[in-house]
Amino acid sequence: MSAQVLQAFQAAAHESVPLDELQAAASRVIARITGAEAGLVTAGAAAGLMLGTAAILTGYDAGRMECLPGRGDFPCEFIVAREHRNGYDHAVRAAGAVLREVGFHEMSAGAGVRRVEAWEYEAAINPATAGILYVQGAGGFPRLADIVAVAHAHQLPVLVDAAGELPPRTRFRELLETGADLVTFSGGKAIGGPQATGILCGRREYVGPAALQMLDMDDHWELWNPPADWIDRDRLRGFPRHGIGRSLKVSKEQIAALLTALQCFVDTDPAPERAKKQRLLQELVGNLAGLPVRCEIQTPSDGETLPWLEMELALPESAHLAIDLCRRLRLGKPPIYVGHGLLSQGKLVIHPLHLDAPQTEAIHRRIREELLSATAESTAN
Ligand SMILES: *Cc1c(COP(=O)(O)O)cnc(C)c1O
Repeated sequence: MSAQVLQAFQAAAHESVPLDELQAAASRVIARITGAEAGLVTAGAAAGLMLGTAAILTGYDAGRMECLPGRGDFPCEFIVAREHRNGYDHAVRAAGAVLREVGFHEMSAGAGVRRVEAWEYEAAINPATAGILYVQGAGGFPRLADIVAVAHAHQLPVLVDAAGELPPRTRFRELLETGADLVTFSGGKAIGGPQATGILCGRREYVGPAALQMLDMDDHWELWNPPADWIDRDRLRGFPRHGIGRSLKVSKEQIAALLTALQCFVDTDPAPERAKKQRLLQELVGNLAGLPVRCEIQTPSDGETLPWLEMELALPESAHLAIDLCRRLRLGKPPIYVGHGLLSQGKLVIHPLHLDAPQTEAIHRRIREELLSATAESTAN
């Protein structure tokens, strides 16, 4: 977290404020930045998924809220592409939804050229359908706009997991302009907020019930007066109790820090930082010359996403050695955790989000030590 973000965290710690007032103010900031009608600061994107699911299942119905995660006589299915399934959808299921899978990724099966198609979502819609779950992290396939069109033709909402899809900063508006009903982002990834924060934003009709199911509800109905542009009190038949999201609460400090980080994220020109990271990676590549490793810096073309370095081991049994090197780097001094997404291809990844010059030098030194000892061992054998 930047000094500015930490300062906001600290300043908030000295204040007392009703959380619904603070969250409603946060909603206005999030709306201005993302183009959504309303928003909510959550305890991470996974928490956003759980609250968003709960909101879609219950709307403003306090009886349904009380029932979660159990299933009453209301629709509880979310349609999802098989290729969008991932460990984070546990949060959707934890709210009480049942996932109904559609489509095949025939290319990953090596058995065809097609992936999930929009008509398959439509064919799966039935009286138990509550909404559609869409994971933007799957590379924007199928097109979100097509899935929103299918959903809205049947008066169903779409919940989007876009946790790690920033930058580019245009992504906020790009996703919300499709008409997607709720979108969740991580606050602790590129935005640079506290690690355990996130954003849920979209239509007011769902953000209100999401908020209700997270806020502390220990008050008197006669006194409770949440900001009307954020929670529609008139739509409640009575005063809901603590909801399923009560265990996902966020503090005033987290809210202030996340909003500060969000504002910095959209106001700051990413070019200088990006150039700095590019230089650090180039320096590392230069320093690794002569070692049995092929380096390639990947530079996304959107002009905002940071470059990263892929290092492929040029040794026999490279996939096995890459895991071994990864382990040794974790166990060494200082412990270094490299990106491990391409280990099966024998590649280590250096993502520079939080990298500075001394750390880059430490990575160079440790990789050199480990590679020299690995080559010495293989020559000895
Ligand atoms: C990181 C991530 C999440 C979880 O985000 P948190 O803010 O850590 O809760 C959810 N979905 C995807 C696709 C992610 O990459």
